[in-house]
Amino acid sequence: MDTTHTDRCAECAGALPTSGDCWTRLHELLEIETRVLPTLEPEAGMRAHFFAVATYQLQHPSRLTRETLDRLRAAVDEMTGPSAPPIAHLRRDMGRFAAGSRKVTRSAAPTDRSHLDRRWPVSWSVTAHDVTKGQESEYPDAVGRWAVATLADLRAALAATPRHGG
Ligand SMILES: [Zn+2]
Repeated sequence: MDTTHTDRCAECAGALPTSGDCWTRLHELLEIETRVLPTLEPEAGMRAHFFAVATYQLQHPSRLTRETLDRLRAAVDEMTGPSAPPIAHLRRDMGRFAAGSRKVTRSAAPTDRSHLDRRWPVSWSVTAHDVTKGQESEYPDAVGRWAVATLADLRAALAATPRHGG
């Protein structure tokens, strides 16, 4: 058995980058996008970007309010579904959602899960680290699969053993 010590992200359980902060992974994804997205149709590029950012956030829920997480999860579900609307519609919806005085983000330690359903996963079938390790040419498909896998993980976890007030 491999007993090598590896630091893991408290939220996604992916191996931490050398920075020690998993947030760096999101920047790695965005760097890949600067190379890959210009080669795609604009709609496909915007979808890939949405899947990357939204999925990363679903796996790192300490930074968002519960209401935002629920909205984001519904949006990813809609965008991975059979009748996904144009990304512009989604952007408009999310813009309306975030408008005004609504609190969208929160500032808390990665280990702070006080706002979450206790069943919200802390490990995932696919993490940002997995996506950054892939071939860049497969990035658009990879982020789509990441989004679908994350929704499936959430669905399975939240369907398990309902808890009072969870
Ligand atoms: Zn992480």
